[in-house]
Amino acid sequence: MVSLQVFFAVFSWVVVCQTAPVQFINSDAVNWLKTFGYLKKGNSTVELKEYQNALKRLQSVYEIPVTGEVDLQTEIVMLSPRCGNPDEEVTSMLSNGREKDQSKIKKRYVKSSSKWNKNDISYKISQYSSQLPVETQRNIIRLAFMTWEEVTPLTFYESTNQDADTEIGFYIGDHNDGSPFTKGIIAHAFLPDNKAFSGDVHVNEANRIVTDPNGNGYYLLSVMIHEIGHTLGLEHSLDKGAMMYHAYGTRTTLSADDIAGIQALYLQKSNSPSSYDVIYNKNDIIYLVKGERVFRQHVSGGSSEEFHLSQLLPNNLERIDAATVIGENVIFITGDQLWKFEDGLFLAHSYPTSLSSINIPGGQVDTMFAIPSESSLYFFRGNSYYRLGGGELVVDSPRLISEKFGSSVAGSDAAFAHNSDIIFVKGTLCYSYDTVTGSTNGPHDFSIDMDFTKCGSIQLLVSPLLIATSVVLRFVFS
Ligand SMILES: [Zn+2]
Ligand SMILES: [Zn+2]
Repeated sequence: MVSLQVFFAVFSWVVVCQTAPVQFINSDAVNWLKTFGYLKKGNSTVELKEYQNALKRLQSVYEIPVTGEVDLQTEIVMLSPRCGNPDEEVTSMLSNGREKDQSKIKKRYVKSSSKWNKNDISYKISQYSSQLPVETQRNIIRLAFMTWEEVTPLTFYESTNQDADTEIGFYIGDHNDGSPFTKGIIAHAFLPDNKAFSGDVHVNEANRIVTDPNGNGYYLLSVMIHEIGHTLGLEHSLDKGAMMYHAYGTRTTLSADDIAGIQALYLQKSNSPSSYDVIYNKNDIIYLVKGERVFRQHVSGGSSEEFHLSQLLPNNLERIDAATVIGENVIFITGDQLWKFEDGLFLAHSYPTSLSSINIPGGQVDTMFAIPSESSLYFFRGNSYYRLGGGELVVDSPRLISEKFGSSVAGSDAAFAHNSDIIFVKGTLCYSYDTVTGSTNGPHDFSIDMDFTKCGSIQLLVSPLLIATSVVLRFVFS
């Protein structure tokens, strides 16, 4: 209890004139309450009532007797090491719910209003701790990210770029972010809110950091998992067993409350790939191919079914590099071979044929798609495209992709027609090329709900143009 005595000794007491009995506002307690979100930071004077209410909220959050005074248990709370992020949102949740009817509050996590609008998040360790080997720190930080990666669609990768999404650093005292470290603060982190320190994690290097949960110091893995939770958009939880509980602990597994919180922000982890080799659209059923895995789903998302490539390809093709649909026929490219399956099943007469036989030199292409309204087939390779119209290569091929479709769609993994748009897919992003206006829009991230209709420029209920011209295209390869 030496530290408690020191704490009492440094307290400066301010007498507030009230009718008897005389009560006190403790300025160190006021600072603590301001630091952790129980009192507004800007207010220079604090009313006694306001102060007592702040103490009551703190006592309620920490589940100690609600006295509205700085009693011994409250002193202990104020001396306990903890995360530097405030409990602001937790206390407002408490006043909205738990105080009224505790039984109605099932979720105890608090998600902020900010989150990353993408699934691939980069991190950079800007300043290492001097207390542990660099490799040890890198491994622990990677493990901490993996803990969140396991339950979300998010992936994290270490980067050395200046503009990494999350910067991690170990600092002492005032480190120029407006939130100087004091001894009891273990670390703090910033929500992903596009401000200066968005998504960053700072650890207090003045404290002893250890790699053993039973060691004499703060267990870095536990600290990092908690702080990363903030960088993803979670605030403190009221659940004592949660990683996101404000007080320090050595836990390293996410509680059900943590998982519910993060999945409310980012949905559940799907085992879907983060990029696809080929995507094609047959009557608004989308086929997504990644290596030998094929996923089939509606264009607007929802549940998908997975099967093996061999179940899709009638002739035992081992892989496909590009595919498109013309009417009821599906065309695949593997290497420099082009295969046409009538009604999606029967290999058409005189197929396979080589790309060179239709005057596309040099073998393999990246992407193929049809624009029914033009009766054209397009083949992308690098920054150029070849166009086939009426069964013949158009004389001006190849041309630059940027000239017709805009530079953003060059290098697309896949492309397919939907309504009057061509949807281009690059990783988890999609762009739409409006074949009516000739404009390109995007990008949108489709990976959150796999809804490709959000990629489109307009939503058409029926597309008579598509149906009529698909008949014309049926004869392109006949
Ligand atoms: Zn925290
Ligand atoms: Zn900081």
